[in-house]
Amino acid sequence: MKILVINCGSSSLKYQFIDMQNEEVIAKGLAERIGIDGSVLKHQPKDSDKIIIERPMPTHKEALQTVVDALTDKDYGVIKDMGEITAVGHRVVHAGEKFAYSVVLKEEVMNALKECIDIAPLHNPPNIMGIEACRQIMPGVTMVGVFDTAFHQTMPKEAYIYAIPYELYEKYRIRRYGFHGTSHKYVSERAAVILGKPLEELKLITCHLGNGASITAVKYGRSVDTSMGFTPLEGLAMGTRCGDIDPAIIKYLHDKENINVAQIDGILNKKSGVLGISGVSNDFRDIEEASNNGNERAKLALDVYVYKVRKYIGAYAAVMNGVDAVVFTAGLGENSASMRSAICKDMCFFGIELDEVKNKIMGKEADLSKDGSKVKVLLIPTNEELMIARDTMRLVSK
Ligand code: AMP
Repeated sequence: MKILVINCGSSSLKYQFIDMQNEEVIAKGLAERIGIDGSVLKHQPKDSDKIIIERPMPTHKEALQTVVDALTDKDYGVIKDMGEITAVGHRVVHAGEKFAYSVVLKEEVMNALKECIDIAPLHNPPNIMGIEACRQIMPGVTMVGVFDTAFHQTMPKEAYIYAIPYELYEKYRIRRYGFHGTSHKYVSERAAVILGKPLEELKLITCHLGNGASITAVKYGRSVDTSMGFTPLEGLAMGTRCGDIDPAIIKYLHDKENINVAQIDGILNKKSGVLGISGVSNDFRDIEEASNNGNERAKLALDVYVYKVRKYIGAYAAVMNGVDAVVFTAGLGENSASMRSAICKDMCFFGIELDEVKNKIMGKEADLSKDGSKVKVLLIPTNEELMIARDTMRLVSK
């Protein structure tokens, strides 16, 4: 069985084509600048050179057609025809309270996802466009939706209800949802394999630290709390997002700077986080370099970032009454030994003891804890695409 995994952004379409017999990626790529001049597909078949296809792609439909053409090309294609695509798994950001699991994308599901546009205006419309493009180009092929929010639907009410008038939850479903669920689920399952224990017996704190970042308390295989909330703006300081702040700042800024709510939203989403503090970049590599060269604000940005991660680890150890392993994943979590080291420093109270030599590794599954550390520290590269493909296969095989 071969499964196409699709992840659509507003002007991009990322994909992996996976042979589920051995879970091998046989081609992957990225279509960029969809709807703008200069649309391009960068297609990477397994074991051969990258192919660059420049072609107008006014919508996601043309982008997807270009992907299918590349997959079936007579020279560099990896399949003979579209009939070899058994199913398509779509990453969808927000499924609200409707879906705690991945589902086949039938009409009623599509309607439910459209209802979520209100609460995910940036993410759900391109996800839906991608699904609709696939339906047009591959009629009859089963489509599955895998939702970033689904894994967190197990959070107890005390973790997801905000302390605002309850009517606002009833009227608008304003509550905490959480994101990166596919990644937190994947690394939790891998952690159980690495630790050689059933997931149902483990208390894990999974740290997805990329450009967007979130931490999840996974108790006995279920998400019981996570740092992102109603939107992916809550929680940790991120590349450009502010994370937790006092909501009163919004009115204060409005009054002082004479700017409207949309402008403030732009500042909090795009100009804050480590970029906002450092003034250097949203990329941790640049900030670490600037900090090493004596830039004080870059150092402060890293300190604030690390401090917030530590606070959440402490909070989630309390929430679960203990922790068996802390897992690092995503761009920063997988690659920055210095940040992992700063996060785990002086955590022996919790039983977290990082081995600085083992910690030198990048981007590979590894146990980074000192021998005898009560709590294990694990590095597990995330693989959301594989998780989506597995869910898709499971639903198609039913
Ligand atoms: P992601 O969103 O998971 O793709 O993560 C992207 C982010 O990971 C980048 O913006 C960088 O800030 C960070 N990152 C990637 N590689 C490294 C590295 N070697 N050292 C520090 N940060 C890194």
